[in-house]
Amino acid sequence: MQRKPLIAGNWKMHTTIDEAESLAISIMESGLPGDRDVMLAPPFTAMKAVSQAVAGSGILLGAQNVCWEEKGAFTGEISPIMLKDAGCTMAIIGHSERRHIFGESDALVNKRVAGALKFGLVPVLCIGEKLEEREADKTFQVLEDQLRKGLEGISQEGADNIVIAYEPVWAIGTGKTATVDQAQEVHLFVRSLLADIYEKNIATGIRILYGGSVNPKNVDDLMGQEDIDGALVGGAALDSTSFSRIINFKVT
Ligand code: PEP
Repeated sequence: MQRKPLIAGNWKMHTTIDEAESLAISIMESGLPGDRDVMLAPPFTAMKAVSQAVAGSGILLGAQNVCWEEKGAFTGEISPIMLKDAGCTMAIIGHSERRHIFGESDALVNKRVAGALKFGLVPVLCIGEKLEEREADKTFQVLEDQLRKGLEGISQEGADNIVIAYEPVWAIGTGKTATVDQAQEVHLFVRSLLADIYEKNIATGIRILYGGSVNPKNVDDLMGQEDIDGALVGGAALDSTSFSRIINFKVT
């Protein structure tokens, strides 16, 4: 099955509204190949402005987190309905910064995934091992745990609308990238787990992104791997020239 590549930019806690608008316009104007999807995840404050700036371009918008409830007493959270109202169709969930700085558990991540699906947002479920876990040979065990718990109770139809992002924590924002072999090995493992949880044809259709210091120099090799279907990009997504080059990756 041909999976459409997805290049996603996570802007984290960067950009004012004006800066976000300009960055989005530069990315849009640098040309978007039709055979791949592009998602931008600006801060919540800039979502609507970015949505208006890129209207009609095909660029997708993602949130950096999402609550499982539509509204109510959830101070500091963001509702899926509010996100959709601002032009958002996807949501990054379980990013390592949410898990490790803000203490989000697998159970909380799972609630967010279910909530996103319930309200029609595509979840981008992030999983990844820490350096000490890799060094202790626990990578596969940690990833299996995060994936199974993150997807608990999610039906086959739900899984059809999900994206997984493998982001080794030791490679995020550090300049260290997993080698293409390390990344492909994990992606293949994740796909086989998905085939075990769901059916093989569902697993074959799910996009698995790699994230962790992706840049214009390493993207072509990473995207040349059989089970790497896209990239979740942090630092390099804040520079329109770098991000455009990543969007325009070339597989030889
Ligand atoms: C990320 O934040 O998801 C990420 C992968 O960041 P960076 O590309 O900077 O490593």
